[in-house]
Amino acid sequence: DMHGMIKGRYKLGVAHIFPTNDEVGEFSKSRFKPLIANNKTFIGKYVKDQKGGTDTTSLKKVCSAFLYLRGARLSQKIGDSAESTSSKTAGFSVDKCVFDEVDYMDVDVIEKYKGRMGESPHKREVYLGNPSHEDFGIDLIFKQSDQRYWFRRCSCGHWTCAEKSFPECVKIRSDGTGYIGCDKCGKELPMWAGEGSAEWVADFPEKTKFMSGYMGSQLMSPRVDPAEILEDYVNPPFGNLADVYRLRLGRAYSAREDKLRITDVLANCGNDSQATKHSGPCAMGVDVGKEYHATIIGIKTGRERYEIIKTCKAKGFQEVTDLARRYNVKSDVADIGPYYEAARKYQKNSGHKTFL
Ligand SMILES: [Zn+2]
Repeated sequence: DMHGMIKGRYKLGVAHIFPTNDEVGEFSKSRFKPLIANNKTFIGKYVKDQKGGTDTTSLKKVCSAFLYLRGARLSQKIGDSAESTSSKTAGFSVDKCVFDEVDYMDVDVIEKYKGRMGESPHKREVYLGNPSHEDFGIDLIFKQSDQRYWFRRCSCGHWTCAEKSFPECVKIRSDGTGYIGCDKCGKELPMWAGEGSAEWVADFPEKTKFMSGYMGSQLMSPRVDPAEILEDYVNPPFGNLADVYRLRLGRAYSAREDKLRITDVLANCGNDSQATKHSGPCAMGVDVGKEYHATIIGIKTGRERYEIIKTCKAKGFQEVTDLARRYNVKSDVADIGPYYEAARKYQKNSGHKTFL
């Protein structure tokens, strides 16, 4: 950011967005000020604190361009309206937005800040973050990018990517410390050993024009022993494998039970009203209950693809049987309990393949 501003490439300026205002202050104090203090000749002389910066929004002037440090929480709500407003996202123009820890930001906040680049010829978006859940936030953004991974070249000629070969790439020395070894010959591969020793390689180079994505992990850090990462992976501290994936390996992690999200379900919904009958062949599931039997009927639309065409509460097995006929159900699954006798009778008379 600083470089582009000092060189005058970003004439309007740059916005660096953090999830909350606390992080704005934290960044300003712990990262920004030391950066300037330690680089007085190169950067420090270009930076000036500006009036208009408050405790919650920080404003710096770099040469003639502004650096806006802002929080992404828009807390002001008007009445019951879901529309939230904030002075933070209004009244300034930038060439570049950096979203830091995007998984903790609302999508509409990101959109509001992106709107601040309307007058820029550059309109650069940068997203940073530790991944949290799969197909969410930074993980989803990375999947839309050209997906670059760090490959290390061995003297045997083979290229190894620690992030892709983990855990096999971690080799243990006799003293118990670890290192990243070549996939082919096992020789130790540092993260960087000079020109030509390693490089970013895109999985999808055809997407580079749209977006470049870089995947990093602690396996790339010379300060972290890979043996410790392997140990945490095999025996997660406090049983928390999610944190090992997210913080050490830089990968998103979703436990099986929370993998299905409301947004995923809604994304798969159409506006079609429920069909009152269907020529089938359909499949049916029946969740047998005391008040009603929750019934769901669907059709296979492709390999591993299904479409739900009817969900309803059926009063008893007779109604379930009628539904099955109307939708040409060829097979179904129903609870055997707690009404075992009725379930077996239904199975016998359903007229299609019924699993209990
Ligand atoms: Zn090798």
